[in-house]
Amino acid sequence: MKTLNKIYFKNLFAMALISLLFGSCSNDDNQIIINPDDEVFYLPVVVHVMHKGESVGEGANLSEERIYRQIEILNEDYRRKFGTRGYNDHPDGGDSKIEFVLAKQDPNGNPINGINRIDQNKVDVPTLGYNTNHFAQYDYWDTSQYINIWTTALPEDSMCLALGLATGPDIDLPGAYLLAVPGPDDKEGIIISRYHFGESDIDCQARYGRTLTHEMGHYLGLLHPWAGGACETNDYCDDTPAVHKPVYNIPFTGCEGDPVMVNNYMNWSDDEVMNVFTNDQIARMHYVLKNHLGRHALLSSPALKSN
Ligand SMILES: [Zn+2]
Repeated sequence: MKTLNKIYFKNLFAMALISLLFGSCSNDDNQIIINPDDEVFYLPVVVHVMHKGESVGEGANLSEERIYRQIEILNEDYRRKFGTRGYNDHPDGGDSKIEFVLAKQDPNGNPINGINRIDQNKVDVPTLGYNTNHFAQYDYWDTSQYINIWTTALPEDSMCLALGLATGPDIDLPGAYLLAVPGPDDKEGIIISRYHFGESDIDCQARYGRTLTHEMGHYLGLLHPWAGGACETNDYCDDTPAVHKPVYNIPFTGCEGDPVMVNNYMNWSDDEVMNVFTNDQIARMHYVLKNHLGRHALLSSPALKSN
């Protein structure tokens, strides 16, 4: 979850009250050792562009270029690509070997570019709140074949306040209960405010497309580095310095007297400074891709290939 409003701080406080389990980053019984020769994990995404009748490229009806660039940024970040903003030479930083592909087929096997434009004015649905259940009413593709991303047509005064949110996987990793795990009837996916999807020159620290990088981390099982706020457990990743409260841009001393990792993607730091997924975080995402049924099925989705 990446928002800066009070409601979410309240949720965070509620989460901090929940008792915490102890454990390491990966599940102890099924620890994943990163193999540098690991194959690349390709994951198909569909971007449902929610708009209010604007022409393509205007307002909430985001341009193709902007969407393509957002997916490119996502891959620069997850692959730690040299020469891009996503590169780092941190000793604990890694290449996740995870890449995202705009779906090449829709659920009926028709060729597409991974972009599904929806005029909200033409669909009448009940208001269910700002969540995946609400947006799934407009369109929702099989989550074992697609990662559903909705870009939302929020009003301008929400800019820099509501950024994005994601559901998490139901998985036997320590701390997974701190993720927004959907119930049996809930819908999965990622919501990103259109202002924060892709690159732009908006007057906000979230303008380089890192909201999606962060939310995708949650979708693949990552917690905030401060997790529930307990120094002993945190995000269950030993190589992210323990921290007891949210990390923004400002460096400070964490639980063990070390500086916190300000540039980790799972913080609430500015887009401009974030460039690290650690090896333990990567191991956690790999565990999800190998052990969560729905996420694992994405790796062989027909949407990865043209028909
Ligand atoms: Zn978050």
